[in-house]
Amino acid sequence: EMSELRCGGCGAVIQSEDKNKPGYLPENALNKDKPLCQRCFKLMHYHQKMESHLSKEDFLKIIASIGDKDCLVVYIVDLFDFNGSLISGLTRHVGFNDILVLGNKRDVLPKSLKDHRLNMWVRRQLKNEGIKPVDVILTSGKKKLNFDEIFDAIEEYRKGRDVYVVGMTNVGKSTFINALLKHYSDVEQTITTSEFPGTTLDLIRIPFDEKSALYDSPGIMNEAQMTSHVAEKDLKTIVPQSELRPMSFQLNAKQTLYMSGLARMDYLEGEKAGFVCYFSRQLKIHRTKMANADALFDNHKELKLYPLSVDKISQMKSYEFSFKKGDKKEVFISGLGFISVNTKGKLRISVPEGVDVFVRECLI
Ligand code: GDP
Repeated sequence: EMSELRCGGCGAVIQSEDKNKPGYLPENALNKDKPLCQRCFKLMHYHQKMESHLSKEDFLKIIASIGDKDCLVVYIVDLFDFNGSLISGLTRHVGFNDILVLGNKRDVLPKSLKDHRLNMWVRRQLKNEGIKPVDVILTSGKKKLNFDEIFDAIEEYRKGRDVYVVGMTNVGKSTFINALLKHYSDVEQTITTSEFPGTTLDLIRIPFDEKSALYDSPGIMNEAQMTSHVAEKDLKTIVPQSELRPMSFQLNAKQTLYMSGLARMDYLEGEKAGFVCYFSRQLKIHRTKMANADALFDNHKELKLYPLSVDKISQMKSYEFSFKKGDKKEVFISGLGFISVNTKGKLRISVPEGVDVFVRECLI
C-alpha cells in the first residue's frame, strides 16, 4: 500500500507526484522494501563521493571560510577516538565562532561510565586543544541519544544565524545529518546544494526558515588513524559497532599481546599486572611470550592472528612508554582502541607506520 511507505532516512511518506516535496521517489524506483527518498539517497552517497575528492588544502579552505562567518559551528567528534577525530587547525580558523561540540558514538563506551564524567573528560581535552565550546552534548546518531536536547541547543545558540556542521570522516556526520533531516522534514522548502566559495564543492543546505539554514560540510580521513591503514572490508572488524567489552589480561614481563595482526604490545619491564583492553568485539586479541612473538607474527595464518590486510601494512613502527608507580593511564592506538595500564613498568607498542600511539588521561 503506497501511503504506508516511509523513507528510511527522513521518515517522510514516499510519493512520486512532486519532486519538490518531502519523500519524493520516482515511480520506477519504488520496488524496495526499505525505500529511501531521492534526497536522502543523494545525501547518503554525497559524503562518500565528495570526501574522496577532497584535498587537505580544500578542506582547510572550507574550514577557514566557515571561520569568517557569523554562524554557529556544530563540531562532531567521535568519543571512541576523540583525538583522532579532532580537526587539526580548527581553533586557528574558527576560534572566535560559537562552537557546539557533539560527542558522538556514546553507545560504544561502557554504559557504566557516568555521562557527567565523560562530559567533563571531553571538556578537559577540548581545553587542552584551545577550544572553548558554548556547550558539549553527548550523543549517538545511531541511537538518537539526546536529540531533543541537541535541537534545543542548536536553536538556542544559533540565535537566528546559519549553522555549519563540521567533522572528520567517520565521526558519524552523515548518520547525524540524516536524523536532522527527519527532524526538520516538515520544512516545506527542499534541501538544495550550494557551491562553496573558492572550491568546486557543493554543500548540502537544509533550510530552517527563509533566512537561515544548516550547511553540511565535507570531512577528510585522518591518516594517523588505523582506519586509514586497513582495507575497506576490514573496517567492520576494527570499528566498534556496539558497546566495548573490556578484556582483562594478567601479564608478566616479557609477554606480548597482539591485537589481530594490526598492533602489538610488549610488556618489557615490570611486575605481574593487569591490563584491560578496549577494542571492537570483532578484533581478536592474542597473548603470547615475547620470545615467540615474532615467529607467531610470521606464521600468522596458522596461528589465527587474523591478519587483517597485512598486505597493506608495509612497516611496523615501535614506541616505548614508561609508567611510574601510581600512574593510571590509557595507551591509545588511534582508530583502533586502548589499553588501560595501572602499574610501574615499561611497554612497547608496535603499529603500522603512520598510526598515532599515545598515553592519555584515563577515560574509563
Ligand atoms: P561520516 O563519515 O562522518 O559521515 O560518518 P557515517 O555517518 O558514515 O558513519 C561512519 C561509521 O560510524 C559507520 O560505520 C556508522 O555505522 C558508524 N556510526 C555512525 N554513528 C554512530 C553512532 O552513533 N554509534 C556507533 N556505534 N556507530 C556510529
